[in-house]
Amino acid sequence: MQPIRGTKDILPHEIQFWQYIYCIANKVLTLNNYQEIRTPIIENTELFTRSIGNFTDIVNKEMYSFSDQGNRNITLRPEGTASVARAFISNKLYSSKKIHRLWYLGPMFRYERPQKGRQRQFHQLGIECIGSLMPIADTEAIRLATKILHELNYTKFILEINSIGNISERKIYQDHLIRYLSKYKNDLDTDSQKRIINNPLRILDSKNIKTQNILEFGPKLNDYLETNSLKHFNEVCQNLNYLNIPYKINHNLVRGLDYYNYTAFEIKTTQKNQQNTICGGGRYDNLINQLGGPQTPAVGWAIGIERLIIEIKNNIDKNNQIIYIANQITSNHDILWDIINLIEQYEINFELDLSNYNLSKQLKNANQMGINLCFILGEDEISNNYITIKWLTTGIQQKIKIHQLKNYIKYIKNNIIT
Ligand code: ATP
Ligand code: MG
Repeated sequence: MQPIRGTKDILPHEIQFWQYIYCIANKVLTLNNYQEIRTPIIENTELFTRSIGNFTDIVNKEMYSFSDQGNRNITLRPEGTASVARAFISNKLYSSKKIHRLWYLGPMFRYERPQKGRQRQFHQLGIECIGSLMPIADTEAIRLATKILHELNYTKFILEINSIGNISERKIYQDHLIRYLSKYKNDLDTDSQKRIINNPLRILDSKNIKTQNILEFGPKLNDYLETNSLKHFNEVCQNLNYLNIPYKINHNLVRGLDYYNYTAFEIKTTQKNQQNTICGGGRYDNLINQLGGPQTPAVGWAIGIERLIIEIKNNIDKNNQIIYIANQITSNHDILWDIINLIEQYEINFELDLSNYNLSKQLKNANQMGINLCFILGEDEISNNYITIKWLTTGIQQKIKIHQLKNYIKYIKNNIIT
């Protein structure tokens, strides 16, 4: 039996990374008054075709869609923003206050060719700041992405940022771009050739060298931006400057989804990975309105957790500081439970041996688990009211009277286990 292609089990030895990321994100985002939201994994297909756009890769070829027993068209969500926007509208969140700061972490589904950092079920951590047109909202969002990465001790990334203007600026640019590229149609890579009609902006994103050379002499989106777009972008950049958040302006950065305007950004690893984009985001001032809600500007981003874990996994300490309780008692186990209650009271992780092996085999097992500190409870200990403490790395062993154990555990907690 194998898991479905492109899906993975997250095993106990990996779950610590997931919990760590969740905790850090929760801490940083809660400080900034972002609140967690959990939306369903299934949505009406129409939500994604209407928001992400019919000519994008996601809607065109990556969606997991099916019709349910009632013949409804359903899709496993490929990303989080559309669902959050839908939840904002269906629950009329707009009626309670002007600004909503929301975050989520959960599985997303895209039918893609599985490879390192690219799965069919993957996870995104994302935020949406809904209700503000201010450039400082964009900066807040970007700052939080970089803040979370720094809190995770991750620094090997670069922020790329661009302004893709508003719909009318893009429309004029797009017409000019199509006119220019049509002259070189046969020299473009095949993907880009297909995109000329349906999604020409995505051609800017092409990694093909020949296509890039052609683009170099073509019209630049930046030259089509008018005062408001430029002002917004400059303000975001000035704020980033003040915050000392390094960034690179990339005029060819466009995002894969239709709903963005003004600010678009990505965070990429500086490592030479094939899938090097760990975070993508931007402003989407028309999405909520387009889905039937009130005109509500918003900005957000999503980080791919699997890609992030590839980057940070070596920076995270494995916490193996636990007490192993080796035991061989034939009659009364009361003392064992008293000790467990004490260790737990001081919030030290522990494991009670359940193997029924002899004590030396139990200690060997603890050693193999990388554990340093063992509490040993055998018949002699029970009859004489003490417990043996053994430090496996040094071999040092000592006897502690049961009535002194509380102080001893307190000492360990405060001085040894951090
Ligand atoms: P890519 O260009 O790599 O396909 P994308 O532009 O489709 O990325 P977004 O829709 O912006 O990605 O999603 C935000 C983040 O989610 C990405 O930067 C990436 O970290 C992660 N992500 C997207 N698709 C996948 C996938 N199939 N498997 C794992 N992570 C993914
Ligand atoms: Mg993609």
